[in-house]
Amino acid sequence: MAGRAPFLPGKIARYVHDHSVREPEILRELRAATASVPGSGMQIGADQGQFMALLVQAIGATRCLEIGTYTGYSALAVALALPEDGRVTCCDINAEWTAIARRYWKKAGMDHKIELHLAPALETLQKLKGPFDFAFIDADKGNYASYYERCLELLRRGGIIAVDNTLWSGWVADARQRDADTRALRAFNDALHRDERVALSLLPLGDGVTLALKR
Ligand code: SAH
Ligand code: CA
Repeated sequence: MAGRAPFLPGKIARYVHDHSVREPEILRELRAATASVPGSGMQIGADQGQFMALLVQAIGATRCLEIGTYTGYSALAVALALPEDGRVTCCDINAEWTAIARRYWKKAGMDHKIELHLAPALETLQKLKGPFDFAFIDADKGNYASYYERCLELLRRGGIIAVDNTLWSGWVADARQRDADTRALRAFNDALHRDERVALSLLPLGDGVTLALKR
């Protein structure tokens, strides 16, 4: 099954998948090509890609930002949903993984919509100029708070930040789990819950996706 819904009972997860997911052929190919790449578990599920595609269409986004691109699945899912003049600006540091991304963006005829910055995301974010309509945060968890602050600056009012892995296999809710990433995500979720600058929703989609809409 292409989409994973770890927080749903298996039978329900399958039903939801069977009645929702319409993974385009090119994304199916990219998923298959990524299966043998180290870290393939980091790739978002087809259900989440489709959700993000719906989201950017719903808010009429044309300028999108991505922090953490890997082999390019989430960026491609978004690019496919954008109008012809839509753009996705991607940040990653791994040349090997993003080479696969570039190959599939080209194969999909979407390479003109996607711009990759191969450098630490914090450096790229300092240089970028807004406004953006949509941002997806999915890189190193220790920097989530900084990524979020900069994305919020770069976003227009009514723009949405989607933050990935905010449930972190459920470990954020397990007090015995005290590793650095879990603690960072827990602190991040706490801060967001109090953040009045945004309208908020934490969805048990994928590994947890938090939506923050800039007020
Ligand atoms: N969104 C991707 C998965 C991202 S995995 C998908 O849907 O397939 C996380 C990515 O963050 C990795 O590719 C890793 O290279 C990147 N990353 C880690 N630290 C980073 C940093 N400091 N700056 C930019 N990218 C970083
Ligand atoms: Ca992720």
